[in-house]
Amino acid sequence: MNPAYDLLPVFAQNLAYTAGGIWVARQRFSSFFHETLARWEKSVDGPLLHLHAEQRERLDRLVRHAAAKVPYYKDLPPPSSKYEPAVAMAETLATIPPLEKTTYRDQFQQLIAEGIPTRRCIRLSTSGTTGTALHVLATPERLAENFAAVWRQRRAFGAEITDPNLTFNGRMIVPFRQRTPPYWRKNHYGGQTLFSVYHMSPDHLPDYVDAIHDTPARYAQGYPSALHLAARAMIESDRPLPEGRLVGVFTSSESLLSFQRDAIEEAFNAPVRDHYAASEQAVSMTACVEGRLHVDMEYCIVEVETIEECDEWERGPLLVTGLGNDVLPFLRYRIGDVGTRAKTPCPCGRPGDTFLDIDGRVEDYVEASDGRLLGRLDHVFKGQRGVAEAQIHQQIPGAIEIHLVRTSEWDDRAEPSLLRELHRRLGETMKVELRIVDSIPREPNGKFRAVKSFRGRLDPYLAEGTT
Ligand SMILES: [Zn+2]
Repeated sequence: MNPAYDLLPVFAQNLAYTAGGIWVARQRFSSFFHETLARWEKSVDGPLLHLHAEQRERLDRLVRHAAAKVPYYKDLPPPSSKYEPAVAMAETLATIPPLEKTTYRDQFQQLIAEGIPTRRCIRLSTSGTTGTALHVLATPERLAENFAAVWRQRRAFGAEITDPNLTFNGRMIVPFRQRTPPYWRKNHYGGQTLFSVYHMSPDHLPDYVDAIHDTPARYAQGYPSALHLAARAMIESDRPLPEGRLVGVFTSSESLLSFQRDAIEEAFNAPVRDHYAASEQAVSMTACVEGRLHVDMEYCIVEVETIEECDEWERGPLLVTGLGNDVLPFLRYRIGDVGTRAKTPCPCGRPGDTFLDIDGRVEDYVEASDGRLLGRLDHVFKGQRGVAEAQIHQQIPGAIEIHLVRTSEWDDRAEPSLLRELHRRLGETMKVELRIVDSIPREPNGKFRAVKSFRGRLDPYLAEGTT
């Protein structure tokens, strides 16, 4: 944060934030954004053939552009000429080698398209939870498409761009040394109240609960881990929001864990709708009323490197292709997340690819002593008595330590019940130790990690996928 901003009184910080909000709104909600949103709100209903035709057209254009302008891709063959869009896309993709994170980091300059003026490039960074932050370059239109996917989802659930909202994300908006409320700032122009996720200690949380009740809002948004801390404080003080106050809680930026979802829905009295995306601007999936994540097919193509499957689904690391970033094309990028793709159409009726779950990052897996990889362990904690928050640490295969924050409901039966459930999912041979802690520290970017793995090399994907 800017040191000069820190010294301002709160009302002036609110003004500064409001001025920033006006600037951001002008950038974000451009005429291109509104046109894209209007078009995509029509295309979302299909038919599937039209979605595939649009994907194919965009993929072909990007492949030709990459071959002509991006040094790293100068040898890419031309796209398939097959008539059927789905068949042609599969053929085209098969000729492109997956892009690894290590390649992206080491050959960054080779991946940037030539001849695009600097003023057309917006520089972003990946969050760098697992190491060095990587740089991303994107055109303003690319970012507008991302917002169009976000707003298509929100509008479908009754939220509008101008609606007041409660926001919990990683921005440092309240000086770190501040020890009295308010731990939030207001963007009066955007109707946004931004809560600091860096001040959510037990003694400050009652102030957050007051503010959540006192602030007019139509929806909430942000990191599930921060919304969950607020939700728990609301539940523990028996102060949930009245039903109907919010149309939804829109989560993003972290894996949404099942115990977080339950608490947030109970406290905010509104459904949680997740959005899966990444700083690389190469993937977007939005949850529907059924809770499935729909690939925003106008925006990206998602492939699964299947390592496990049955009649209903297939699971494995994702390869993502963003369809519109001319500056820095991501083609079959091995992003480091694992997903479970449904093999059946979604009951909600929206056509296209759907995922039952994004299981988390490749490194969010626990390894059994026999080498099996076990993911999405947050389900273990769902419905367990007295568990407020949990983080799994693993140093060696076959053993884990669980850092546990308890609620007042924790009693003599809680520990045996939790251990039983863990062994049921992880096998009797997994060594499990519980360590009671007061709180679980966030990463430097304010995000929560469900699993902290210190094992080193896990599998071929991890070796390539994270640095
Ligand atoms: Zn659906």
